[in-house]
Amino acid sequence: MERKAPRIVMKFGGTSVADLDRIRAVAERVRAEVEAGREVAVVVSAMAGVTNQLVGYCQALSPLHDAREYDAVVATGEQVTSGLLAIALQTLGVDARSWHGWQIPLRTDDAHGRARIATIDGDALISCMRAGQVPVIAGFQGIGPDGRVTTLGRGGSDTSAVAIAAAVNADRCDIYTDVDGIYTTDPRIVAKARKLDKITYEEMLELASVGAKVLQTRSVELAMKERVRVQVLSSFADGAGTADGETPGSLVVDEDEIVEQELVTGIAYSRDEAKVSMRRIPDKPGIAAAIFGPLSEANINVDMIVQSTGEDGMTNMTFTTSKSDLGRAIALMEAAHHEIQYGELLTDDAVVKVSVVGVGMRSHAGIANTMFRTLSDRAINIQVISTSEIKVSVLIAAEYTELAIRALHTAYGLDAA
Ligand code: ADP
Ligand code: ASP
Ligand code: MG
Repeated sequence: MERKAPRIVMKFGGTSVADLDRIRAVAERVRAEVEAGREVAVVVSAMAGVTNQLVGYCQALSPLHDAREYDAVVATGEQVTSGLLAIALQTLGVDARSWHGWQIPLRTDDAHGRARIATIDGDALISCMRAGQVPVIAGFQGIGPDGRVTTLGRGGSDTSAVAIAAAVNADRCDIYTDVDGIYTTDPRIVAKARKLDKITYEEMLELASVGAKVLQTRSVELAMKERVRVQVLSSFADGAGTADGETPGSLVVDEDEIVEQELVTGIAYSRDEAKVSMRRIPDKPGIAAAIFGPLSEANINVDMIVQSTGEDGMTNMTFTTSKSDLGRAIALMEAAHHEIQYGELLTDDAVVKVSVVGVGMRSHAGIANTMFRTLSDRAINIQVISTSEIKVSVLIAAEYTELAIRALHTAYGLDAA
């Protein structure tokens, strides 16, 4: 069907809707886009801090709470914001209506707390926009096969926004946040971080998956698959919005849209890491299966793995997992002691994973070596290493996080002038 007005999805994160003044400012931005003749759908997060508080309530009542009730609780944060923003827009004379996940409907699987989107019916939203009304959608939530509310995992409003942009065939998905784009590394850690005008889907996906939380990993995955044009920009910058067509933030694009490719595009870190080491394990077939079998059955994600060279028939095994899974991982390893027969079980959660990412790594050797040398020059010990085609990650002591990231940022020539 022919369509003339450009259609955009605008997503606002928690700090962008932190209080009523911020919500009014967001309403002004949305109005500017509407007045510029665009069809607009808005996706909102919970007000800053609200989701953390709701998660805290569930945990305080019961650490092993029912995931369906967790979703019933945490999904409310976004509902509040969607109603408030609809009111703020109406106050400015903009026709607006709030939408919950079930009203769209945005259907997900039944993995409560970390659900994946299955289907979205864009028809009702499209009719709403065609009629000149702005839908204000509660992000982060959907409806599961059992008819109950589900949530998409922390940071999931990004994924809601991209999925809705795909479902309504939007020209662009604008992710408004508290920084003005995607940087070479977290600008809150490295003052000399440089803003990237463009970044490839592939590199953004890798950066997100190793900890750059500016976009949820699944949102990038989905944008890449559905060819959604994603822009990250600040909701705090001056000006009513991007109604004049400029692209002041960072665009996530295909590789052929990047003119000059750096060897290393960015550096990310993840504090959500814990290390488990087993020493003096008999070096014989079946040991890895005895360790990782139970972990996988319990749905515990293992990230980095190293096994040392065997000596005198004994070996050592180290792996990392997320901090929240550490307790369960220890319990499983203790339960499997008779089978694994390790001499000693050691754990450490004061660790951080630092990763350098760049498609240039495919064709250039020496990038990993620069990382190892830079860290050794600072006397930072590398505990575990893992690599992929376009990424090198190291596990180091958490106390060196800032030092390591700043040194690497300089070593790869990423510092802003
Ligand atoms: P929102 O609430 O808007 O979703 P988030 O806190 O989830 O915002 O994501 C934005 C934050 O991501 C920034 O404040 C910044 O500290 C962090 N961040 C980490 N890595 C990067 C990066 N490479 N570029 C920009 N921001 C980054
Ligand atoms: N409010 C949710 C969270 O804090 C989802 C989001 O903000 O994207 O994780
Ligand atoms: Mg976020």
